[in-house]
Amino acid sequence: MPAPAPVAPTAPPLWHQLDAAQACAALGACAQTGLSPAQVAEQRARYGSNNLPEAARSNAWRRLLRQFDNPLIYVLLLAGVVTVLLGSLVDAAVIFGVVLINALIGHIQEGKAERALQAVRDMLAAQATVLRAGLAQQIAASALVPGDVLLLQSGDKVPADVRLLSVKNLRTIEAALTGEAMPVEKTEQALEPATVLAERRNMAYSGTLVASGQARALVVATGVNSEMGRIGSLVEQVSSLGTPLTQRLDQFARRITGFILLLSLLTLLYGYLVVQMPLLELFLAVVGLAVAAIPEGMPAVVTIVLAMSTRAMAQQQAVVRRLPAVETLGSVSVICSDKTGTLTHNAMTVVRVLLADGDVRVSGQGYSPEGQVADCPTPEARADLQALAQCAVLCNDAQLRRAPQGWTLTGDPTEGALLALGLKLGWTQEALSSSQPRLDGLPFESEQQFMATLHRQPDGRAQLYLKGAPERVLALCRCQAGGLRLDADYWQAALARTAQAGERVLALARSPWPQADRAGQALTLADITPCFELIGMVGIMDPLREEARQAVAQCQRAGIRVKMITGDHAATASAIGASLGLDTAQVLTGAMIDAMDDALLRHQVGASDVFARASPEHKLRLVAALQAQGSLVAMTGDGVNDAPALKAADIGVAMGCKGTDAAREAADLVLTDDNFATIAAAVRQGRVAYDNIKKSLMHMLPTNGGEAGVIVLAIFSGMPLPVTAGQILWANTVTAVTLALALAFEPAEPGVMQAPPRPAQEEIITRALALRTLMVIALMVAATFSIFRWELGRGASLELARTAALNTIVFCGLFYLYNVRQFTGSALSWRALRGNPVVLWVSVILLGLQLLFTYAPVMQRWFGSVALGGSSWLAISAAGLGVFLCVEAEKWLLRRRQWRRIGGSELEKQGAP
Ligand code: ATP
Repeated sequence: MPAPAPVAPTAPPLWHQLDAAQACAALGACAQTGLSPAQVAEQRARYGSNNLPEAARSNAWRRLLRQFDNPLIYVLLLAGVVTVLLGSLVDAAVIFGVVLINALIGHIQEGKAERALQAVRDMLAAQATVLRAGLAQQIAASALVPGDVLLLQSGDKVPADVRLLSVKNLRTIEAALTGEAMPVEKTEQALEPATVLAERRNMAYSGTLVASGQARALVVATGVNSEMGRIGSLVEQVSSLGTPLTQRLDQFARRITGFILLLSLLTLLYGYLVVQMPLLELFLAVVGLAVAAIPEGMPAVVTIVLAMSTRAMAQQQAVVRRLPAVETLGSVSVICSDKTGTLTHNAMTVVRVLLADGDVRVSGQGYSPEGQVADCPTPEARADLQALAQCAVLCNDAQLRRAPQGWTLTGDPTEGALLALGLKLGWTQEALSSSQPRLDGLPFESEQQFMATLHRQPDGRAQLYLKGAPERVLALCRCQAGGLRLDADYWQAALARTAQAGERVLALARSPWPQADRAGQALTLADITPCFELIGMVGIMDPLREEARQAVAQCQRAGIRVKMITGDHAATASAIGASLGLDTAQVLTGAMIDAMDDALLRHQVGASDVFARASPEHKLRLVAALQAQGSLVAMTGDGVNDAPALKAADIGVAMGCKGTDAAREAADLVLTDDNFATIAAAVRQGRVAYDNIKKSLMHMLPTNGGEAGVIVLAIFSGMPLPVTAGQILWANTVTAVTLALALAFEPAEPGVMQAPPRPAQEEIITRALALRTLMVIALMVAATFSIFRWELGRGASLELARTAALNTIVFCGLFYLYNVRQFTGSALSWRALRGNPVVLWVSVILLGLQLLFTYAPVMQRWFGSVALGGSSWLAISAAGLGVFLCVEAEKWLLRRRQWRRIGGSELEKQGAP
């Protein structure tokens, strides 16, 4: 074997050909204790942090330029050029001004949305478990340096390129690097120098996932020096701003733009050929018509609503990884949730020990060893209890430490509970592991439902300890404590009794190591044979999350079915399901699901709320069955094997605390507090987001239509234009900066979680919305013409009548904004008026802008506006109020017909199933 090459960023050694010791030596690392703080600092100075350069995120200039890439802007620019050619420089300046303002608005909105998303991205920063100065600690993956010794376990995302120092059944999924989806078996042995990257089985590369097993590994390349950095790919964490809804809206906007251009052309021809209007005036009016009618602000509003919602959700501990999830969340109809940690606290305490001679109660709470173990019924039971405690402490991967703030646990809470039981009986981990050192172990995996460890006993012989789900362990036992015949009925009854009390049950067993000649060798699954002696069982309590119970009830009121899918025993699951308010009449177990074909499962899945002893494969089948029934499914998961089910679900929800990187990568939503109530809150936020998008549409379509309608009607009827082209461009722009945005900030309506979920494929423009749009267009056009004619009729100049008409258009939009804030709820209440300060602010800003428009001399010069008197303002306000009252009357009628929302399907009527 050649001597290790000196380490330099430019000439790294071929790590795969070195053996583990050589690799460590090359980086000055110790496999047992890791790097010292001084070494870490030195390496950091040399290699920098473990980050890949950000994907070329659109910089501000590029974003600004992108705003000009839009059909509306093309129309405007062309119109501007034609206007210059026709000799009207002021109008051309107004048009170019509008272009610029539009681009700036889009730019600012997009910047805001991107910043909101970036903040969310930062919340998902990866973590790594590393050995430094002899201590295992969790650090940010970006803080890793070459030479760090990592501890990897199943579900982890490999945070840097590593040389594996020791592995235990390690398999990794390298799809991110090689495209190969099947897990690859790993080793620690040195390989031939010529081995190609994809076959370097003693290496694991940044961005790949640990599918199973454990490993200790030496970091050899970080950041840009890693293979992932070299190929320059970045695994995207949060998607870009496009979503199915924005795409659908884009399509819709394009269709309407086509229609509007056609209408504009017809109007132009009619005005020129039939009415014989002067060409410049006609052309500008038609440009005004086109610009006013095209709902150009729509995609931007949707983006901003979604981005604002992701921020609101992040504040409520739900981090959205993919933007479309926000809109999908609003239509979720089934939530499938894990039990442990999501519906319960995952704070486990052993409350009883089941022995061959009877039960022993254990008092105390949490991981503190304060608490009493009740007296044992017999001396034999006392001996069994001590043996059980030893097994519980030794066959255990968790660590319990006394800290100033109390006892703190590192590792699995179920195992923490067992350590606390051991302490209550006087057994510490330190003492036991020095008298019975561990030779090897098989960690707990949900698929096996047990954990086993091999220990050397003080007499030199080796002993196997086993703990796990009672059914699994019982099947591996040939006798019970004292070498007596296994009384299966007794244990089944004890198990049922404990599980029915809602406790998690674990059985503990031991066996002399049968292969005395193989002591010291690796323990494999094949060694776990039915040779064990059952010592006893424990009942572990995991209190319910009170907020989860309330959230379940809230979901049920909102027409969302909650289903609990757990690895626990059916009786435990049923007891906990009942206290959560789930329907426990029919509990399906994993075995029952296995016995069903897909068609039967589809039939049965609706009738059960509780699924027990279910594995990740069952979750996948359940998602498929529920989706086949037409449900939109949110599914939670934490393990590496949950990833397929999370991907298949409409909304994959991963646990931020106890979940693995693999689950987080596959998820749409990550809960930073692992709490079910957070999912319910996210669903609510998703509904609010969709409502606000719909309300924005409900405002934008009729106001744009009204502005355009005024011009179309004037040209077709041969009347003088009630507003000039420049004026309509002004109205369109000021309402876009103010009113169109205000609804993005609208809080939830009171009944948002009382109606059934919105069908996922609901049409954007429904009949009700189309009717409302036509009604408001008609009202706005009528109001504007009335004021215009009234002013002319009482002898006002054309300029004054136009100024009044333009103000009427703007006021109608402003008053209508207050209508739209509630779908059908009355806007005539104090509560309805408050709630969204943005609406009040934009109202004030808009009024200020209109006063400027009317009175500022420069505006008067540009737009031909003139000062208005008090009576004009009174009339304008009355016209706006008239539109407002008409819409309120329509809402009142809808309310009487039990409509709760408008713009949706018939299902949105109150009381619909
Ligand atoms: P949920 O799906 O509700 O979150 P879970 O994922 O915690 O449940 P599993 O972890 O798969 O369920 O546990 C299934 C069973 O395996 C438990 O009922 C218990 O009997 C056993 N078990 C759990 N943790 C351990 C462990 N660390 N060692 C041995 N057995 C365990």
